[in-house]
Amino acid sequence: MKLYNTLTRKKEEFVPLEENKVKMYVCGPTVYDYIHIGNARPYVIFDTIRRYLEYKGYEVNYVQNFTDVDDKIIKRAIEENVSAKEISDRYVAEALKDAYGLNVEPATKNPRVTEEMPHIIEMIKILVEKGFAYEVNGTVYFNTKSFDGYGKLSGKNIDDLEVGARIEVNKEKKNPMDFVLWKPFKPGEPKWDSPWGEGRPGWHIECSVMAKIYLGDTIDIHAGGEDLIFPHHENEIAQSEAANGKQFSKYWLHNGFINVDNEKMSKSKGNFFTLREIAKEIPYEVIRFFILNGHYRSPINFSRELMEAAGNGLDRIKNCVKDIKFITLNGKDSKLSENEQKLISECVKFKNRFEESMDDDFNTADAVSAIFEFVKFANVNIGTESTREFADIILSKIIELCDILGIEPLKEEAVADTGEIEKLIEKRQLAKKEKNWAEADRIRDELSEMGILIEDTRAGVRWSRK
Ligand code: AMP
Ligand code: ZN
Repeated sequence: MKLYNTLTRKKEEFVPLEENKVKMYVCGPTVYDYIHIGNARPYVIFDTIRRYLEYKGYEVNYVQNFTDVDDKIIKRAIEENVSAKEISDRYVAEALKDAYGLNVEPATKNPRVTEEMPHIIEMIKILVEKGFAYEVNGTVYFNTKSFDGYGKLSGKNIDDLEVGARIEVNKEKKNPMDFVLWKPFKPGEPKWDSPWGEGRPGWHIECSVMAKIYLGDTIDIHAGGEDLIFPHHENEIAQSEAANGKQFSKYWLHNGFINVDNEKMSKSKGNFFTLREIAKEIPYEVIRFFILNGHYRSPINFSRELMEAAGNGLDRIKNCVKDIKFITLNGKDSKLSENEQKLISECVKFKNRFEESMDDDFNTADAVSAIFEFVKFANVNIGTESTREFADIILSKIIELCDILGIEPLKEEAVADTGEIEKLIEKRQLAKKEKNWAEADRIRDELSEMGILIEDTRAGVRWSRK
């Protein structure tokens, strides 16, 4: 299996640090609003990579953070006259709902900055003690000149960078590229005690800390969108390698951007869409399929036409699978014919083609084509004359490949009516009151299968259709 490593700028054979195990860290969103369509890409892509690694037999420890201390969160909290925690709690919950809608497997751990403060302070202390960081008036800076490898991920030369950075004069900094690890408290902002006074951490330190705590000093894969290569990931490498004295991540993967109507998405251009808005019109599964239709490193363009095309493609798979399902119930009840046996042995070519595509830097676009070929083959070769067993075997082979991509062609649309949902929620509340947790969980699963998401809030149970 080969993957493109941003650090070495080439496709490399994937060799994990530990046999059969993968430690993977993905930078998550800053939770000040609903996630947008661009954020959906790393969610879907790195989930698919994780699923493929699992399919290949690796046990994947998958950590994705939530940035819940940030200027944008504070600004939103002031606007709404609520606490920063209320804002971040709300949008963590909403991001998880969107991730669920996109059929993203839950992470092994979703750490949050506010819950890791002692560890963050500890790593900054180590950097100061080792001479990689310095404090000026309550601000702690990382000294980029003290770390030899600065610029190795982005391929930037520190002297060239400094020429650009000198425009922004900051007398406190020793070097123009030095960045903040800890900043002093300003009125109205969340704050924590530290050896450098009350304040809060800069952005980059959180990922170095969370990766270390939940995965270890050296990890296999670190991932995020390409905008994070510089400065975020460059700074993470500097912090982690300076503090731990070890390589931080063996492989670095970065997804390309989603543009809207061929333009960069931005609030001022009015072409900015939250995933939730789009999901009102386009089912999550179509959005996921759309993202998988491009190679993860290429930019992709979001437009209504392309989304419709993705929907049509997905329907082709779903219709075929439904037809086969019908034959599994209504086909001939006899043994596999000789021809069917021959056809089954031919199917391996679709699986091989699928795996070859995924082994080549996770080319999901080609993997999807392999599924389409399989669908074409099934449409030609399965009919009312087929045996049930034949339909069963072909169905499970197609579903297996779809599953790796997180596509569920057999999933039924939500059809439950409101009364039925409310009744089930009441039943679950009763089970909870009786401390019958197993039954409460079972009802939650039943609702989930009906396409209903429920959320326990202080005001009671809220539900929504997926
Ligand atoms: P943010 O909340 O901006 O830190 O973004 C969370 C994740 O989404 C990061 O991995 C970003 O690189 C990624 N991301 C942000 N905007 C886009 C976009 N338009 N296309 C693809 N990925 C994006
Ligand atoms: Zn990060």
